[in-house]
Amino acid sequence: MKADIVTIFPDFFRGPLEYGITRRAQEMGLAAIQVHDLREFTHDRHRTVDDRPFGGGEGMVLKPEPLFECLESMGVAPREERLAGRVKQSVILLSAQGLPFTQRVAAELASLDRIVLLCGRYEGVDERVADFLADRELSIGDYVLSGGEMAAAVIVETVMRLLPGAVGNEASTQQESFTIDVKPKSSGAADSTCGSNGLLDYPHYTRPAEFRGIAVPEALMSGNHEEIRKWRRQRALEKTFRNRPDLLEGAALSAEDKKFLAGIKN
Ligand code: SAM
Repeated sequence: MKADIVTIFPDFFRGPLEYGITRRAQEMGLAAIQVHDLREFTHDRHRTVDDRPFGGGEGMVLKPEPLFECLESMGVAPREERLAGRVKQSVILLSAQGLPFTQRVAAELASLDRIVLLCGRYEGVDERVADFLADRELSIGDYVLSGGEMAAAVIVETVMRLLPGAVGNEASTQQESFTIDVKPKSSGAADSTCGSNGLLDYPHYTRPAEFRGIAVPEALMSGNHEEIRKWRRQRALEKTFRNRPDLLEGAALSAEDKKFLAGIKN
């Protein structure tokens, strides 16, 4: 996969792209990430990327010309081709007003050949970029950042770890919080070994078995696989019910899960 990031602060990405799985994915040749300095697509002495908003009001707005020119220099397929799904590329404008970036969106992006992330700054970006250059706007949460750089780093990391081979143990990315498309077991029941299939993850413990008088839950020490499975599934259900009850609606729940949930709701 190729990932392009367009920003007025290219140095910001020195840290985020050079650690962990993102670095590994690049070293393994699974991903090529290129950061583009928006100011290189300006034509004035001051390398101006922003201007005052028409109609008045607060702050400055990122101008459209450098963003259009930057994208045109990259050899990205035309917007009609991208929107029609004839090429596996997506141009994304980071925006607090965008559609929510979720694990499902991350999985979709990980299946593409190329993503381009446009980072806004100041009061935002000239709306013609959202309407005529980008294919979609994505938000990483209901809060306002000062720029799209942090959001781009979040998206790149989330997508990179879904590329086949990027994480040492691939099964681990299929059994995490929010993961939805895990194949059901042959019995037809929801896979209930863990917190996947739309639930939050189950709690994890490691050595020592007792720490400052706090012991690891007995079920995990039992060596009984069925007992461990049941314990993990129930804790995932409890945690999801407590912290993110909204997820239960879309989760794949077995009859056993539903019975357990009915018990804790009452
Ligand atoms: N005036 C905008 C609003 O109220 O929605 C906020 C602009 S913000 C200060 C500047 C830039 O930060 C945005 O253009 C966008 O690129 C980025 N940004 C801010 N919050 C974001 C979020 N939650 N998700 C993604 N990008 C965000």
